[in-house]
This record gives sequence, C-alpha cells and structure tokens, in this order.
Amino acid sequence: MSRLDAITKVETFIVSIPRDVPYLGPLRDGERVNEKGYLIRNGNRSIYPSTDMSVLVKVTAESGKVGWGETYGIVAPQAVTTIINDVLAPVIIGRDPGDPVVIHEDLYDLMRVRGFFGGYYVDSLAGVDIAIWDLFGQCVDRPLASLLGGARRRSIPAYVSGLPKATLQERCDLAVEWVKKGYRGVKFAAAVSDEGIVAEMKALREAVGPGVDLMVDLHWKFTAPEAVRIIKKLEAHDLYFAEAPCEPEDMEGQEIVARGVGAPLALGEEWRTVYEYRPRFEKRCMGVIQPEMGHTGVTEFLHIGRMAHAFHVDTIPHASIGIGVFMAASLHATAALKRTPYHEYQHSIFDKNLTYVTGDMRCEAGFYHLPSGAGHGVAPHDSVFNHVIG
Ligand code: MG
Repeated sequence: MSRLDAITKVETFIVSIPRDVPYLGPLRDGERVNEKGYLIRNGNRSIYPSTDMSVLVKVTAESGKVGWGETYGIVAPQAVTTIINDVLAPVIIGRDPGDPVVIHEDLYDLMRVRGFFGGYYVDSLAGVDIAIWDLFGQCVDRPLASLLGGARRRSIPAYVSGLPKATLQERCDLAVEWVKKGYRGVKFAAAVSDEGIVAEMKALREAVGPGVDLMVDLHWKFTAPEAVRIIKKLEAHDLYFAEAPCEPEDMEGQEIVARGVGAPLALGEEWRTVYEYRPRFEKRCMGVIQPEMGHTGVTEFLHIGRMAHAFHVDTIPHASIGIGVFMAASLHATAALKRTPYHEYQHSIFDKNLTYVTGDMRCEAGFYHLPSGAGHGVAPHDSVFNHVIG
C-alpha cells in the first residue's frame, strides 16, 4: 500500500504570552513572582507561570503539508523541547503521518524500560502526537474528529472554570455574569476560597440560583476523611462534582471518598496514560474523568475516553494553559466520544489567546464550537512568533 506522505522535519517553539492577572486571580498575601517568572499559590502549594507559557510542535511532510501540536510547557518548557528535539524527532523523520497510533506506541516504548511513562516524557509525546494527527488530517483533507470515528456533535457544552477575582462578592458577581451569558456550569477553586470552601459554595448557589451546575476543585488539599466531611457539606448546596479531593497518589483515599459521598468525584487532570486511569476505574474512584489533551495527546486521550465508556464514567476534559492548539484537538476528541456532558472552559486563557490561532474555534453562550477545516482546524497565527523565547 502506498504511503500517505513522509515526515521530514520537526520543530519546537516555546511561547510566553503576557497576561494582566495571573492564572487563578490576583496574587494573595505572601505570593510573589520569582526571578524565573513563576509564582507559588499558597492555597495549593503549586507553581504556575506568570505568563501563558506553552510549547508548540510543528511537523512538516515531504509534500510541504504541516501539522501543529502543543503540549504542556507551563514550567521548565525546555525539558519538553529537549526531549522532542534530541530523542523523538530523529525517530519520526521518514515515518508516515497516516500512522499516528503506531508512531505514538513506538515512541512510548523508547524510554519505557527506564521508567519514563509519565511526566515530561509523556508530555513530549503528546505534543508530537497532536501534530502528527493534524498532519494526517491535512494530508487526507478530513477533520480530526472524523479520523477518530466521527463527530457526534458540532458544539460541546462548556463549564466556566475559575472565578479569578479577589473577593467572594466579586466571584459571585462574575459567576452570575457567566450564567447570564448562557453558561450552565461554573467551577470554583478551593485554592483561592479565602472565606472558606463551604461559605463560597453557599454564596455561589444563592447568587446563581437552582438549575446551574456548580463544581468545586479541591486541589488535593484533604485527607480522605476530611474530604468526605467537606463534600457532604457542599452537597447540601447541590454539588455537581468534587474535583481532586485527595493527594494525587492517594488511590485508596480516592476510593474511600468516592464511596463516602453522593456527588461524583472528578479526577485525572494529572494522569497521562490508561495505565494510571485503569486501576482507578477498577476501584470505581470517580464518576467523571478529566483527561488533559496537553498531557495525553490524541491517541492516549481516545484510549482513556473509550476505557471510560467501558466503566460507564463521564469524560469532562480538563483545559489548561495553552494558546489553543491542544484545545482544538481536545474538542475534536471530545466530539468523537460518548458521555461528554461538558468540556472545561478556562475563559481567562481561551478567549485571550484565541487571537493567536487561525480558524473559527470559539466558545459562545455556553458552548464550544468545533473548529472546521482539516485536522484539528487551528494553527498558530504569525503573531505568536513575537512571543517565542529560548
Ligand atoms: Mg483542577
């Protein structure tokens, strides 16, 4: 059988796009931007960039066709670009872009024996995988969702994630604003619930009224018994899901919480492969999974999503800091899955960075619209390259 094309070049770009207010809202007391441009949130002890940092991957074929990928590069992005340029690129030169799954499996195997089945290594695979799937779509002039088995829908309900304001009153006002725009789901972040998590939930419910899905991201703050206690209090205000109650490694804690509360747990933004999801599915640790395209890539995302079908679990994908390339891939993959009631909408990132990508991807009045065109349907606009660093 003839080849579709051949990959001839792989390039990476680290981008750093300024933002007025840091992700998760204004700096709290004791929080500062360090000399590398990072800040640590006291509420969840996690490090974030003060700009929108991302890694773009460009794959070019013999025909001149181009595919774009993007991966998670929010902290130490050079780790990812080094892996892609030193390890992955030479291996995929000459491969057929019509073989994205086989290429992904081959790249995963390269470092498996050394224990690199997560972290920066799999992030690197994700960026390459998205670019190859996009190139495949460009070569056959078909949208990504179609290559994944077909789009079940052209629009996907979006839930508003995070209310990046300094006070509880302002966060409530912002939630009401989004509901008035047509959004039916809002999630707040426990890391910045300065007045208390239960007080925030109660105030938000009073502000938005019944009929709006309210979610909480608990940011791994609690032991299992603490999480059960607090989630039960939140359930009194009609909680749609509770995200990440316990520390990521605490599988037994996740299982205990899942059995001890009524609301579904939403887990998975930090997991990259089916091997991390599978034991949690088996233990029934969650009712909702949150795969992050920037960590998984298309191939693994679909593998995880299909496994969720088999366990009767909903997929509500995570949305992280990026310029929109992995978001486009995430929307296509979501459109190809069943049981996807929502996709996360990081409005303070998605809308701001939409000007940096081509195509008609957008989120309006409560719904994402699947980008049209071949592949995932977006490419970095020329303006992005004014923000390339390193
Ligand atoms: Mg989260």
